Amino acid sequence: MSRQREAILSAVRESCCHPDADMICARVKEDIPHVSLGTIYRNLGKLAEEGLIRRIAVPFAADRFDKTLTPHGHAVCPACGDVSDLPEHISNALESALGECISYELTVRRECEECKKIKKYTV
Ligand SMILES: [Zn+2]
Ligand SMILES: [Zn+2]
Repeated sequence: MSRQREAILSAVRESCCHPDADMICARVKEDIPHVSLGTIYRNLGKLAEEGLIRRIAVPFAADRFDKTLTPHGHAVCPACGDVSDLPEHISNALESALGECISYELTVRRECEECKKIKKYTV
């Protein structure tokens, strides 16, 4: 594995959220300052194809990447772009309705708790 590829993979694995290519690029640049965004994109694509990370398509925004490989859905906040995992009981409900799933893409758009709070105070 090349040094760049390794750095990109560990940037995704270290991340607590669901980073996009720009966030990963900023992290990798701390160790490899000359790395280009193109290299980041190419490697992220390959890592996702090989099943080492997951790519999450986000409506109207950049793809995000996930270190968690077990099937789970995501909630995307259209106001701030926050991506979070759906609670486990949603996955459990899907599996009890459909049987064991190899994989699925489930992305829900909803306002996150933080944005809801802000609204409450400004209205
Ligand atoms: Zn939000
Ligand atoms: Zn996730």
